[in-house]
Amino acid sequence: MEITLVQGDITAQDVDAVVNAANSSLLGGGGVDGAIHRRGGPAILAACRDLRASHYGRGLPIGQAVATVAGDLPARWVIHTVGPVFSATEDRSHLLASCYRESLRVADELGATSVAFPAISTGVYSWPVDDAARIAIDTVRVAPTQVTDLRFVLFTPDAYGSFERTLDTADPSGR
Ligand code: ADP
Repeated sequence: MEITLVQGDITAQDVDAVVNAANSSLLGGGGVDGAIHRRGGPAILAACRDLRASHYGRGLPIGQAVATVAGDLPARWVIHTVGPVFSATEDRSHLLASCYRESLRVADELGATSVAFPAISTGVYSWPVDDAARIAIDTVRVAPTQVTDLRFVLFTPDAYGSFERTLDTADPSGR
């Protein structure tokens, strides 16, 4: 798997699947979620409403992932995942790692081989970006997946810098 870093807007990525840092309601929000629904158009929200009406009546649990169509985005699918809100008193790292792992599992089910991820939980959910970058990179490196082109799309120069430093120093063997 090749891991690349991109600074920019995830909605412009020409990949099989883009990952959305959604919230449990699946009915839209700010940040990446807002951008994906704005650029992708109403088809994504309609698909999310269907999910709420069927399998996810109580919303999508934190750490899980589910796919929908991608509407007008260049991608074929959106994989929605719900990151944990950062807590200074409780270690929720396993839930953040689960977002990456479960999103890749869903990508494999779809047959998606190129996937773009945002820095999940580092916006409204206020996870410190250096720590989030470490969890993201450590997790995808060891995840069993058919994805060959994995991109982290970082919106801010700050987040890009964090991911770049982490990727440079991480052990390529994944240990
Ligand atoms: P969360 O609620 O999981 O924290 P946010 O969407 O608020 O999710 O933020 C996650 C990260 O995505 C933040 O680092 C934010 O700067 C970034 N972000 C916001 N808009 C975009 C976009 N269009 N493309 C890529 N990243 C984005």
